[in-house]
Amino acid sequence: MISHIAVFGAGTMGHGIAQVAAQSGFKVALYDIKQEFVDKGLASIRGNLDKGVEKGKVTAEQRQAALGNLRGTIAVPDAAEGVQLVIEAIPEKLELKQGLFRELDGLCGPDTVFASNTSSLSIAKIASSTRRGDRFVGMHFFNPVHIMKLLELVVTGQTSAATLAAVQEVGARLGKDCIVVKDFPGFATSRLGVCLGLEAIRMVEQGVASAADIDKALELGYAHPMGPLKLTDLVGLDVRLNIADYLHGELKSEVFRAPQLMRDMVKAGKLGKKSGEGFYKY
Ligand code: NAD
Repeated sequence: MISHIAVFGAGTMGHGIAQVAAQSGFKVALYDIKQEFVDKGLASIRGNLDKGVEKGKVTAEQRQAALGNLRGTIAVPDAAEGVQLVIEAIPEKLELKQGLFRELDGLCGPDTVFASNTSSLSIAKIASSTRRGDRFVGMHFFNPVHIMKLLELVVTGQTSAATLAAVQEVGARLGKDCIVVKDFPGFATSRLGVCLGLEAIRMVEQGVASAADIDKALELGYAHPMGPLKLTDLVGLDVRLNIADYLHGELKSEVFRAPQLMRDMVKAGKLGKKSGEGFYKY
C-alpha cells in the first residue's frame, strides 16, 4: 500500500497536492528547484491549514499532524528516497517533464508509480522517457486542490490495471471523486471546458450578448457554478489560448480554433484576473 509520496513542483498545484496528501496521512516530500520556492509552497500550506483551523474545518491536532507529515527538499534523490508514488506538478513543458521522469526512473524502485498532473500533454509521451509505461498514469487535480473534489485519472494503452487500482485507492484516501479517462488530447475536463469557453468568446465577438449575460445564461439557465467567461478570466486567457492551439492541432476540429478576440486580448495583456482585466475588470 502506498504510504510515501514525493510531489515535484511546489507551485499552485504542487503545494495543494502535498497539503491534501499530508492531511490524508501520507508522508510527503515536496521538491522544487530552489529553496525559496519550497519555502513559499510550505508557507501556503501552513496558511491554508491555519485558515482551516480558524473556520473550524481542521482541528489544531490535524494541522500539526499534517505539518508533521511534510518535508521540503531541493534534491531530487532525497525527494525520491523510499517513495511508492511520484506526483509531478512542474511547468507544462514536455521536455521538462520528460527530463525529470528520466532522472527519477533511475532513482526510484521498480514498484514506484509515476503520475503527472499535466492538464493537456500526452501521458504516453511523458511516460516514453521512462521504462515504466505500465506504472505511469495521469493524476489531474483541480485548483484549489484542497477544495476541488475531482481527480481525473488518465490511463494510456500501457498503464496496468494494478497501477490504476493503486491511484484510485490513493484518490479515495485523498477524499477525491475519481473519473477514469483515456489519454486523449484534453482528456475529459480540458476538452469540454475549453470548448465552452471558446464558443462564449465567439459569442462576445459576434455581439450576441454582454460577457455578464453570457455567463448568467449558463449560471442560471444550466446551474453552472461559474460562467465560461469568468472561468476563462480565472484560468488566464494566455493559458487557455495555449490549450486551444494545442487541441486545435491535435484534434483537427474547428471547435478549438481560437477566436481572434482572444488572441487580441492576450496580445494586449488582458489575461484575466491575474493581469487585472479580461472579460471583466478586477
Ligand atoms: P506553477 O508555475 O505554479 O508551479 C510549477 C513549479 O514547478 C514552480 O514552483 C517551479 O519552480 C517548479 N519547477 C520548475 N521547473 C522545475 C523542474 N525542472 N523540476 C521541478 N520543479 C520545477 O505551475 P502550476 O500551475 O502548479 O502547474 C503545474 C502543472 O499542473 C502543469 O503541468 C499544469 O498544466 C498543471 N495544472 C495546473 C492547474 C492550474 O489551475 N494551475 C490545474 C491542473 C493542472
